[in-house]
Amino acid sequence: MERSFAKDVEKLKLGAGETFHGEGILAITKALLQSGVSYVGGYQGAPVSHLMDVLSDAQDILDDMGIHFEASANEAAAAAMCAASINYPMRGAVVWKSTVGTNVASDALSNLASAGVKGGTLIVLGEDYGEGASIIQERTHAFAMKSQIWLMDPRPQQPKVVELVEKAFELSEASSTPVMMEFRIRACHMHGSFACKDNRRPAISRNAVMESPSFDMGRICLPPSTYAQEQDKIERRLPAARAFIREHGLNEVFDGDLADVGIILQGGLYNSVIRALQQLGLADGFGECRVPLLALNVTYPLVPEEIAAFCGGKRAVLVVEEGQPDYLEQAINALLRKADLDTTIVGKDVLPMAGEYVAEVLLAGIARFIEGSVPEGVDLEAVAAAPARVAELKQRAAELLGAPVPKRPPSFCTGCPERPVFSAIKLVEKDLGKIHIAADIGCHTFSTLAPFNLGNSVLGYGLGLASAAAVSPAFGKRVVSIMGDGGLWHNGLASGVAGAVFNQTDSVLVIMNNGYTSATGQQYIPSTGKNFREQPTGMTIRRALEGIGVKWLKTVTTYRVGEMVKTLTQAMTTKTLGLKVIIAESECQIARQRRLKPLVRRQLEAGRRVVRTRFGVDDEVCTGDHSCIRLSGCPSLTVKPNPDPLRRDPVATVDQGCVGCGLCGEVADAAALCPSFYRADIVQNPSRLDLVMDGLRRRVIGALANGAGKVPEAAVGP
Ligand code: SF4
Ligand code: SF4
Repeated sequence: MERSFAKDVEKLKLGAGETFHGEGILAITKALLQSGVSYVGGYQGAPVSHLMDVLSDAQDILDDMGIHFEASANEAAAAAMCAASINYPMRGAVVWKSTVGTNVASDALSNLASAGVKGGTLIVLGEDYGEGASIIQERTHAFAMKSQIWLMDPRPQQPKVVELVEKAFELSEASSTPVMMEFRIRACHMHGSFACKDNRRPAISRNAVMESPSFDMGRICLPPSTYAQEQDKIERRLPAARAFIREHGLNEVFDGDLADVGIILQGGLYNSVIRALQQLGLADGFGECRVPLLALNVTYPLVPEEIAAFCGGKRAVLVVEEGQPDYLEQAINALLRKADLDTTIVGKDVLPMAGEYVAEVLLAGIARFIEGSVPEGVDLEAVAAAPARVAELKQRAAELLGAPVPKRPPSFCTGCPERPVFSAIKLVEKDLGKIHIAADIGCHTFSTLAPFNLGNSVLGYGLGLASAAAVSPAFGKRVVSIMGDGGLWHNGLASGVAGAVFNQTDSVLVIMNNGYTSATGQQYIPSTGKNFREQPTGMTIRRALEGIGVKWLKTVTTYRVGEMVKTLTQAMTTKTLGLKVIIAESECQIARQRRLKPLVRRQLEAGRRVVRTRFGVDDEVCTGDHSCIRLSGCPSLTVKPNPDPLRRDPVATVDQGCVGCGLCGEVADAAALCPSFYRADIVQNPSRLDLVMDGLRRRVIGALANGAGKVPEAAVGP
């Protein structure tokens, strides 16, 4: 895994009277344990991958409490786990990244929401929206509304978050409805503290098992039950949820002296709103605010009485709702009309319809609202001046920097095993012409960016091959689809490979087998060879593909660019029809480095011989055309001024980040580029033989170099 929580999980054992200090995602996990969950499952994805990682590391705590934890095969499987709460009073939580994960889970979610739940059911969502998001920009809100699942968006303050997690289970039970709770990326990584409670052992668990199953036709999603379930949603569950939200004060009102205006906001945006108000001189750093606020910790369903009570007597209220469509604004307008209140609702007319509401965006929008609504007792000149003051500061900072901060486009890590595959595809294209590439989700999606720009479409996780289905027959040349091992096990085996074999699609699939779901933090997958409990699985990609009927199947080590070019060319040109699969195999470099570094350190400490490989470029041989950089894209391969005063083009050079993967040398060889790359083995704790050989080499090289007036560098490290 990307990060070990082995030490942090000790905090999960804290009990009443003790204080938790730490990261948001760990606090949420502790709140689950305090809520008495019987099971937890999920699928990794930012910003909630760490919740899965924490639980993987907390196996002894979970075992002791009898809690079942499962690293689900995908989000649909995680959502289906919640079936345990349909018939039995078992509390459970599942987690994934939204909206993509919610898309995958939607079939199970609809059925879960229709059947309803007995045990409190919480779906923890990493709402990956806005700056830094890695997915399509949509909101979970629509899913909540269409399936009638309650949606919470807690105010990001740890005691409040923990309290609301516990309340979410109660809300779920009081209204027989699953609850979604969304967390933005900052909330997940925010540090804070809260007073702990003892963890609660679940009444039904691995340690306290049930003896007989329950059968209730009313819980089956088939007519006539589905008709009754829909009625129940409207007649009982929704009113029960609204009553619970109101009676338990899940939404929060913060009073302010500017009583003729107010702001209704999504709870998750509270900190940014306060920061903007602080800049406008209308709040302090501790949250004391002059503008009354209604923080919606539950954004669906709204409670009409709460909205009416807050808006009543106010001339204007601003709705701060991130993203589109403006569900809350429309609903609040409708509620006020029904309540016959004439408060003016302002929202997307002063705030942008799309994009993240960072403090700067909110500052401009709230300033416009205040200027337009003219609350009594506010210095409007100071309000109008605030955005200009912040803009001026930014301008000043930019001037002091001198030059704009260089952009850092996302790319493969240094030494990534997936990069060579795309170098190979580039070389194949030199001979066969441009190829349609059906890309997929994973680190390999970076292939769509410079310098490769390989990938004509991205349709979803594990859907690379499926997305080529209608393109393949429309081309005179075979289409190449890309899929990661994570995507394969997530759904690609069925939706892509089985579909292509079944339909006898004549196409080429490259499966990146790097051993983990690398993009989300190197979590284990079936073909890692072991599960999160470190138990061997015996599952391999090759066996799965053969079992499904793939006949043309080759495995190539990704770093062997020449062999990859040959295999790809063969797959593209063979007379054999049907699906041709190349398993491109090499371990994720980040995982490899994390695995090797402690081993190397221990070997060095023990005085054992360690060899590290690095690559370099001979300045005198480099022609300065930089085709090696364009073909490999390695961040460690860069340029420096040409040391030869008679040559102007900067030469290629390898910086200190090089991990010695060898790709640059392989590419230079496969593409018949200049022979400027050299390999250097750095030997630490050299053996006697190393020292003898080093002395010998120095003498030979020295003798040769002395003629050219040069002295050889040390070939053996300390
Ligand atoms: S995390 Fe691993 S697979 Fe992903 S880009 Fe980095 S090295 Fe490559
Ligand atoms: S060997 Fe070449 S491609 Fe590999 S990390 Fe070093 S510079 Fe980059």
